[in-house]
Amino acid sequence: MLELKHIKKYYHVGDSVTKALDDVSVAFRKQEFVAILGPSGSGKTTMLNGIGGLDIYDSGDLVINGKSTKDFSEADWDAYRNNSVGFIFQSYNIIGHLSILDNVEMGMTLSGIGNDEKKKKAREALERVGLGPHINKKPNQLSGGQLQRVAIARAIANDPEILLCDEPTGALDTETSEEIMQLIKELSAERLVIMVTHNPTLAKEYADRIINFADGKILDDSNPFVEDVSQDNFELKKTKMTFWTALKLSFTNLKTKKARTALTAFASSIGIISIAIVLALSSGFQKQIDKTQGNTLAQFPVTISQTASKQTAPTDKVKNSNSKKVTAKLSQQEKSTHTNKLNKNYLNYIKNLDPELSKNVTYTYSTGMNLLTKNDGKVKTAQFSNSNSSNSMSGMSAAMASSTGIGTSVYPSSNGNNFLKKHYKVIAGSLPKNENDVILLVDRDNSVNINALKNLGMNVKDNQKLDFNKLVGKEIKVVANNDYYNKVSDNLYTPNSNLNDVYNNANNKTIKIAGILKVKSKSSENILSSGIAYSDKLTQDIIQTNKNSDIVKAQKASDSNVLTGSNVDDTTKTSLVSYLGGSTTPASILIYPNTFKDKDKVLSYLDKYNKGKKESNKVIYTDLAGQVSNLTGGLMDAITYVLVAFAGISLVTSMIMIAIITYTSVLERTKEIGILKALGARKKDITRVFDAETTILGVSSGLLGVIIAWLATFPINIILQNMTDLKNVSQLNPVHAIVLVIISTILTVLGGHIPAKMAAKKDAATALRSE
Ligand code: ADP
Ligand code: MG
Repeated sequence: MLELKHIKKYYHVGDSVTKALDDVSVAFRKQEFVAILGPSGSGKTTMLNGIGGLDIYDSGDLVINGKSTKDFSEADWDAYRNNSVGFIFQSYNIIGHLSILDNVEMGMTLSGIGNDEKKKKAREALERVGLGPHINKKPNQLSGGQLQRVAIARAIANDPEILLCDEPTGALDTETSEEIMQLIKELSAERLVIMVTHNPTLAKEYADRIINFADGKILDDSNPFVEDVSQDNFELKKTKMTFWTALKLSFTNLKTKKARTALTAFASSIGIISIAIVLALSSGFQKQIDKTQGNTLAQFPVTISQTASKQTAPTDKVKNSNSKKVTAKLSQQEKSTHTNKLNKNYLNYIKNLDPELSKNVTYTYSTGMNLLTKNDGKVKTAQFSNSNSSNSMSGMSAAMASSTGIGTSVYPSSNGNNFLKKHYKVIAGSLPKNENDVILLVDRDNSVNINALKNLGMNVKDNQKLDFNKLVGKEIKVVANNDYYNKVSDNLYTPNSNLNDVYNNANNKTIKIAGILKVKSKSSENILSSGIAYSDKLTQDIIQTNKNSDIVKAQKASDSNVLTGSNVDDTTKTSLVSYLGGSTTPASILIYPNTFKDKDKVLSYLDKYNKGKKESNKVIYTDLAGQVSNLTGGLMDAITYVLVAFAGISLVTSMIMIAIITYTSVLERTKEIGILKALGARKKDITRVFDAETTILGVSSGLLGVIIAWLATFPINIILQNMTDLKNVSQLNPVHAIVLVIISTILTVLGGHIPAKMAAKKDAATALRSE
């Protein structure tokens, strides 16, 4: 059955050599009860471990059923220990955190025996050793003798051919010893039992054969045997622990140390907590910034005006000159003034702008409008402007004001009423239905500049309150140039003074105030100025009507102002022509991108137009929003990086902590590692047990961290709201939470993996010797 051939096992400690097994040759029968006697330190345990494959011999050969073990792989040894050998130790070696049944099942669990069969065999084994009534007890509720019975049940559960007992009664009283010996004696009827003992009485009473051992050598053998098996009829079934088993082992182990596990999980979750809070805060702040930026964006559209100023390098330092001449020099401002050619080409280019980026493009024109209104039966001239009408020259200043962008009264008509809906709410009447509908915009306190109403011909006093219905539905006539101006001479025109006739002209376009709109939020306040606002389509229509009117033709032909007769220079003439509606070139184009990102795309689209063009043909835009926000965006990113870096340090710290804890756990569980190995666990399985433990720790500390961080967002938000007025700044993104749990698990497993590997490398025999 089993034969040792010239087995040697030497231990080298420092310079000294211990010959634990010194050329031992012995053979055992398939069925017999062998007792090995000898003084302490004589090498008995070493031999037993050698036979059981727990400790590999240095030289010689161990032959099992004719099969040499010289070329056994580690897996072969694992399988051999699992299938063929059962161990019983002096110190029972029961895994304390597992139930009795689980302990007995462990060997079968390792060899992958099905659950039902495993349970059945384990119960049978426990009944056989007389533990039937105690099956549901925990190991710490059993006496020494009972524990040894559990160990015996574990050893025989898988019905091994060899039972190895190392001083099984060494820790028991005489009476219990007799019982255990009786049990072992019974078991030896079916298999080979080799028992180490230093109790000669017991040996003589129960054993069939006694071998005396001293100094690593066999002194005498009461019943020697000569093996004659020459054929190899030995088979091994490989073992494999499932990850589930590993998880269960770790879980029950952790359960016995609840407080410590909870503290560990908490301590290592601190890294996760800090990162989660930083992320929650920064994404909350980012949201706030985006919102503010969106609002800024609405206030400051990308503006392309007829004249723009180039970005210029800061002025060089003025150098002292000794020259005797005076240099004429353009000022920095003059140098940087650029005239944009907003020609057809460019307008088409803007029309082709991706509507996904901006649906709201406003074209403003410096055309005036000939407006008339009737109040209390009296016809008066009117204008859509907030400025004091007595100072302005028939609305010219209003037209001029609208070309500056901010505070314009012209809204984009290109995108339905989306632009208006986004920033305003209707408080009376309705949104405009077409370009002949204008609207009255009021501030949040329902106020409007008094001049806006006076310019509509209304007689109002400061702080006077007006009913909505006095305003909604009010009609205004737009008169074409040809109907409005009378020709005095070729170069002089005057407005028709018979306003009633002009008002009633059938050619007039009738526009009306469709509704009163109020700004939704403070940030929308400056987008359009309060007062009358009209669609850019209306101005385009008016220009279409007026561009070929007599007065425009006359002004184009004349070198004097056709309304006053005074001489004009070219620039003034051009602006007069456009004021009279003779120019289809917009004074400015305002683009309101949807988001900040879209704005960048809009800008790069605009930049593309300038590529390869002569300086004078380039079109320069103004991006006020960009100038404002450049500062904030980068700063937030930088702060986030720094905070995440700090939080990352605490994550690494907790990872190191986990490694240390796993390491101590490895040290603590050395014995368990030995037991598992004796039962046939592979190195991999041992690594797995500890990996499983760190996985549990990692997942729970990750979850704990995320939960704590989430709970922390509530008080943080309250504090921040008190301090800054910002609501719900800290928001934990669920994706971040999941990623953090995963990161925590991975880092913890990584941190624990090295100690887990160390555990796997532990020598089984040494591990079992440890206390
Ligand atoms: P026994 O079981 O008969 O008391 P052992 O087989 O345990 O004896 O030990 C035999 C000898 O080998 C002893 O001298 C012991 O000190 C030595 N020994 C056992 N294991 C080791 C080891 N891992 N390293 C060094 N010496 C060892
Ligand atoms: Mg011993």
